[in-house]
Amino acid sequence: MKIETIAVHAGRNIDPSTGAVTPPIHLTTTFEREANGEYPKGFNYSRSNNPNRESLEKCLTELEGGNEAAAFSSGSAATMSVLQSLSPGDHVLACDDIYHGTRRLIKLFEEWEIKSSFVDLTKIKNLKSEIKKETKLVWIETPSNPLLKIIDLKKVSDIAHHAGAIVVCDNTWATPVLQSPFKFGVDLIMHATTKYIGGHSDILGGAVISKSDNKFFQKIRVIQKSGGAVPSPFECWLTLRGVQTLPLRVRAQSESAMQIAEFLNSHPKITKVHYPGLAKHPEHPLASVQMKLYGGMISFEVKGGKDDAMRVASKVKLFIRATSLGGPESLIEHRASVEGPETKTPQSLLRLSIGLEHPDDLIEDLEQALTK
Ligand SMILES: *Cc1c(COP(=O)(O)O)cnc(C)c1O
Repeated sequence: MKIETIAVHAGRNIDPSTGAVTPPIHLTTTFEREANGEYPKGFNYSRSNNPNRESLEKCLTELEGGNEAAAFSSGSAATMSVLQSLSPGDHVLACDDIYHGTRRLIKLFEEWEIKSSFVDLTKIKNLKSEIKKETKLVWIETPSNPLLKIIDLKKVSDIAHHAGAIVVCDNTWATPVLQSPFKFGVDLIMHATTKYIGGHSDILGGAVISKSDNKFFQKIRVIQKSGGAVPSPFECWLTLRGVQTLPLRVRAQSESAMQIAEFLNSHPKITKVHYPGLAKHPEHPLASVQMKLYGGMISFEVKGGKDDAMRVASKVKLFIRATSLGGPESLIEHRASVEGPETKTPQSLLRLSIGLEHPDDLIEDLEQALTK
């Protein structure tokens, strides 16, 4: 079935007790045992599992074409579960342009003797030279944050597997609508469902989806159930509701982003536009093969420096100055200030999350902000 159909139906059932088409929210922490002590319906306590979480996990599994999913209370909690499944002595190789919170979490594990390196994985020779026998995990984010680099999932997976490493792809920015990492050999997919999957800037959530049943994923499952960084039934319900419109939203946001990137690309006050849909983007040919469309995120650099970028951000009227992405409302952000003093992000860079407004209105807003 096509993704639009999966998004509407996956993980949902007509409620057997009432016939409700929209699933009920199971706000219970505990479930009754049968007289013989068993739990024939499969639920016993909501930290371990809950019907709403099970529905969401089934849906995410189908969207990515995987075997199983574990839902978490945030994208970062999902990332944490992957890192906690490693052992002292393991090495993590990650792309250099990566969500800054993921970098911080990976570095946190140095105290548990898990070493890490961050390299530009758009160049496969860097992977070949940095991967070693201790490398247990290769962490990819594509398109990357905030420079929208595109990493070759197939080539990286082949080399990593040859070296005995597991490949994880943070698929938050592309979403399953635009990119199917399992088809290129990736082993685990991580999502911040906070972003496009939830889609309405009203829930925090995360997930890890596994391509196959294996020991590493079972460890993630134990961490989920025992550690308890799980989403509430209501958050699972809202996320599942968001999924129904995911393909339509992401397609509209990508189409608008393409028009806006072209506008920015021809503007005299802009020195650089980072958008994989532009023919001049260095990995445009790869993005065209690996992705269906180029997504709703754009970064651009304003002529001058930080003050000039900040001035543009201060003048917008329709874009909202806020962090995060993937919601219906368009956002603008000076990324370096969010990432803190250690950031390598250019000070002249602004990041846009394109929402569901009409692209003409968004272009008009950027035009006036750049003119003044
Ligand atoms: C937001 C984000 C995360 C972290 O998710 P939270 O829900 O904020 O913890 C991880 N990766 C990417 C690419 C993100 O955009």
